[in-house]
Amino acid sequence: MVPLTDVAEWIRESRKIVGFTGAGISTNSGIPDFRSPGGVWAKNKTIMFQDFVDNYEDRVTYWQQKAAIWPDMRDASPNNAHLFFAELDRAGNLMGLITQNIDGLHERSGVDMEKIVRLHGWMGEAVCLSCGAGISMDEACDRVRHEPAPVCDQCGGLLKPATISFGQRLRESDLNRAAALSAKCDLFIVVGSSLVVQPAAGFPEIAKKNKARLVIVNNAATPLDSLADAVIREDIGVAFERLMAS
Ligand code: NAD
Repeated sequence: MVPLTDVAEWIRESRKIVGFTGAGISTNSGIPDFRSPGGVWAKNKTIMFQDFVDNYEDRVTYWQQKAAIWPDMRDASPNNAHLFFAELDRAGNLMGLITQNIDGLHERSGVDMEKIVRLHGWMGEAVCLSCGAGISMDEACDRVRHEPAPVCDQCGGLLKPATISFGQRLRESDLNRAAALSAKCDLFIVVGSSLVVQPAAGFPEIAKKNKARLVIVNNAATPLDSLADAVIREDIGVAFERLMAS
């Protein structure tokens, strides 16, 4: 096992760091992940994108679920792992940050918006699937109280949070940016991702193929652990407290 002091040294000497984050980075901010026991999957029905489009009842269920989690997500604060990336950015050593998260905590932690690739979109806005017009998530959730599946004021199209749902295609431009960052970095740090979902899980492999070091911080094993130069398998809050002190 590689000592944490070595990982801290790699971080100090790298100038082109790319972060890759999943839901696990935000659980210490009070936002549950999907797959852990007690996570969202355990409680909520998964609504596929096409079902959202086709069925009024599914839209109602979807909006109820989103309206229930939005206030906690909106009011959450970045934790020490989010702040770690913000600090790297301030120091000029963060080339990019690829995230699967929809909570906006990287943005709120102070990382330059231009450097963030939001693979799964974000929750702060609801957009019309027909004309693209958007309203804030606060306004959308207010409307859900009397309009269970809200529609666009401009064209009557379906409003949906600006996230990528199951069964919905990821944006080609985001995938290309993420692949380019992965190919150019010298250190690729995965935080809080089970790395089981493709194509997202392919980015660490691109980084390794291009000779970057790979570090994985997660409390459970991932399929890419054997490829990594270091695996820190513990709570993310504890890991970053130790890393920042090393
Ligand atoms: P995931 O596949 O990225 O898995 C999260 C991983 O983090 C798990 O392996 C879990 O064991 C680990 N983990 C959780 N808390 C941890 C902690 N404190 N310390 C160390 N490891 C920890 O994510 P998922 O839960 O399957 O969610 C899938 C997708 O759903 C995400 O990619 C995202 O798009 C969306 N989602 C986003 C948020 C958010 O924005 N915060 C929350 C839930 C789900």
